[in-house]
Amino acid sequence: MDFTFNDEQKMLEDMVYRWACDWLEPKMEEVDEKDEFPEDFFKETGKLDLNGVTIDEEYGGAGLGYTEACIVAENLARVSSALSMTWGAHLILCADNIQRNANKELKEKYLPGLASGELIGCLGITEPDAGSDAMAMRATAVKDGDHYIVNGSKTFITNAPVGHVLLFYAKTDPEKGPKGISALVTDIPVEGYQCNKIKKFGMRGSPTGELFFSDMKVPTENLVGVENGGVKILTSGLCTERIVLSACALGTMRAAMELSTKYAKERTQFGKPIGSFQAIQQKLADMYVSYQTAKWLTYYAAWYVDSLEEKSGGKGTELDKIAAAAILYASEACTRVCLDGVQIFGGYGYSLEYPIQRHLRDAKLWEIGAGTSEIRRLIIAREMLR
Ligand SMILES: Cc1cc2nc3c(=O)[nH]c(=O)nc-3n(C[C@H](O)[C@H](O)[C@H](O)COP(=O)(O)OP(=O)(O)OC[C@H]3O[C@@H](n4cnc5c(N)ncnc54)[C@H](O)[C@@H]3O)c2cc1C
Repeated sequence: MDFTFNDEQKMLEDMVYRWACDWLEPKMEEVDEKDEFPEDFFKETGKLDLNGVTIDEEYGGAGLGYTEACIVAENLARVSSALSMTWGAHLILCADNIQRNANKELKEKYLPGLASGELIGCLGITEPDAGSDAMAMRATAVKDGDHYIVNGSKTFITNAPVGHVLLFYAKTDPEKGPKGISALVTDIPVEGYQCNKIKKFGMRGSPTGELFFSDMKVPTENLVGVENGGVKILTSGLCTERIVLSACALGTMRAAMELSTKYAKERTQFGKPIGSFQAIQQKLADMYVSYQTAKWLTYYAAWYVDSLEEKSGGKGTELDKIAAAAILYASEACTRVCLDGVQIFGGYGYSLEYPIQRHLRDAKLWEIGAGTSEIRRLIIAREMLR
């Protein structure tokens, strides 16, 4: 077994983290305070070829694997979980699913723009009354000549307020329940589409929207995969999404661990650095163990999916279990580590002056997005008991 990154992967890690420190870090306090997406973010990540990491070279991407996507996600999140999530939603939730499931014409239409960052992507699964129970979605797409007429709503859609391309799911045959769901892609905004920005206590700077479709027309040629075949795309896509978001949680956790270690050496009380007290040392040691455990579970999951010829996940696959386990562990460990981080900073941890509180506010999301901890446990147990 080889647990080390190869030279290219190490260079990628270094490049992303350096860029995040130089370009993102100085902006983050203001981005967080104003909840404002830095509008040239994708232009800048485009210069580093990060917007199409997993997209084939023929469509303008870097043609790399999920391991490399995880490296990018982790190292962006070490500085900004919010922008790491925005990047992940653009690439993994939207572009990557188009690459894996759409026909050549749709790939040619959307992937080059997404891979360059000229277009920003997002994915719409969740609805106001269908979150964990995504199959209960109510949005409909009714065929009318050469268009689908789409009605309904979606909520909590990352990037939608600034997005250009929306991959989404709707019922094309509601009578059939989950077997009547299809995947469609549309340019946004279009007539019949409305997006309102949602206010959040964390992940500020990563824009989230609630969407309303009112007789929105989507050309029939924008169907992704086959009609009524959306569930497979949705559940398989959630696996890769969970793996890359695990890496985002790793980055958040690593930031909290590194900031806390530094602070424990600098802050003195009772005439000594607080890092000399065993109660603080134990917290630091627990942080390290959590980070390392989450790291190897996450990169194992990434390696696993990269090793599969056909990268399809969903019900009944080992990938479903591994991906759910990686994000379940990484996200819960991340919240624990960030809470301990705030404790190590004492009162300063509670003040907005130090970034540790931002990491804590952001961390909680990793236990909710891409299926909650409760749902991840259900998936793991379902596969164990199969
Ligand atoms: C910042 C943010 C960004 C997001 N980005 C996207 C995005 O880009 N695209 C997208 O489609 N969605 C996105 N989501 C939505 C996210 O995936 C959902 O919020 C999540 O799946 C939970 O759905 P819900 O919020 O409706 O909660 P609910 O499903 O209402 O759950 C509420 C509580 O009940 C629990 N629960 C529900 N069912 C069960 C059960 N069977 N057993 C035990 N417990 C259960 C849940 O675990 C949770 O604790 C985002 C959410 C947030 C907050």
